[in-house]
Amino acid sequence: MSGCVFCKIAAGEIPATIVKKGNGIIAFTDMNPQAPTHLLIIPTIHIGSLNDAKDPGLLGNLLAFARELAKEQKIDARGYRVVVNTNPDGGQTVFHLHLHLLGGRVMNWPPG
Ligand code: 5GP
Ligand code: ZN
Repeated sequence: MSGCVFCKIAAGEIPATIVKKGNGIIAFTDMNPQAPTHLLIIPTIHIGSLNDAKDPGLLGNLLAFARELAKEQKIDARGYRVVVNTNPDGGQTVFHLHLHLLGGRVMNWPPG
């Protein structure tokens, strides 16, 4: 979708540090990291938010991709958090579906 920053990253039109690609999914480092490991996992096709994701298979693939990445980043054993902020109350600021993969420190609960 034109004007979508994550579509532009997926198309290689703006730079990002891509850490993994495959199966219609890419992962790259967050430009404003909130943890020692903070990656964003997105479908390469534009989907605005979790509310708009009609394909449960894609959602499963995104989650499996996050789990694989956690293993590759060696944060799987100590633990990590996967977050999907959705719409304004959920804290979503970029309206292209993405999973945050956070790790490398102890996470707090409840979240802010
Ligand atoms: P949200 O608040 O929508 O859940 O998360 C959006 C995330 O995207 C934020 O953590 C923000 O730092 C990150 N972000 C926004 N624009 C860019 C960008 O152009 N490049 C990268 N690498 N991250 C971005
Ligand atoms: Zn997009």
